[in-house]
Amino acid sequence: MIALDISKVDFDKGGGLVCAVAQDRLTLQVLMVAWMDRAALEETLASGEATFFSRSRQARWRKGETSGNTLRVTDVVADCDGDTLLLSVEPAGPACHRGAVSCFGDAVAPGIGRLGALERTVAARASAPLAESYTAKLLGEGLKRVAQKVGEEGVETALAGAAGDDAELCNEAADLLYHLAVLLKARGLNFADVTAVLGARAESAR
Ligand code: AMP
Ligand code: ZN
Ligand code: ZN
Ligand code: ZN
Repeated sequence: MIALDISKVDFDKGGGLVCAVAQDRLTLQVLMVAWMDRAALEETLASGEATFFSRSRQARWRKGETSGNTLRVTDVVADCDGDTLLLSVEPAGPACHRGAVSCFGDAVAPGIGRLGALERTVAARASAPLAESYTAKLLGEGLKRVAQKVGEEGVETALAGAAGDDAELCNEAADLLYHLAVLLKARGLNFADVTAVLGARAESAR
């Protein structure tokens, strides 16, 4: 359920249009920027699929209607003065019509968004054929085995850190994060469930 108050959106300033920025809900990449009139926003909210207004064609356009690369919208917020919208989206494919993941380039910034990309990869591999995917095979071995791997990688991370080997620490921490993503997936959880706990703690921190 998207809680946008549409009365706070200012279509007048832009001659009936507001700017809409689509951001990947997991990697936090900015995927594309386009325009919406009121009807496009209403259709977006009603359908849950990003729908824009093409200024060149002067027509409403559901993103992906020809390419199949739709954007499922999970949240919409207006900026401070209501003339720009930020859409959190789950992309079905590359958002740029030239084939890139994002109109602003393919690379996920080497920050926390990488964990979202990892989570999406783990979810995709979970249902792959066992022979083709380590993730699928590991999940097939059951919750205890996945949990054991997290324990092993945790110990390896701790040992690398204690030894002062920074390259090894980063390698083992990467192993740990990957296996943690698999364990969360095995329980139907994700990193957002974990960061929500961190957020709640930050709120109450003194
Ligand atoms: P699509 O919505 O992906 O099926 O693409 C249909 C048409 O929408 C394209 O031919 C472009 O005119 C336009 N389009 C799609 N994605 C973008 C984008 N990210 N930026 C600008 N125009 C786009
Ligand atoms: Zn603004
Ligand atoms: Zn583009
Ligand atoms: Zn390891």
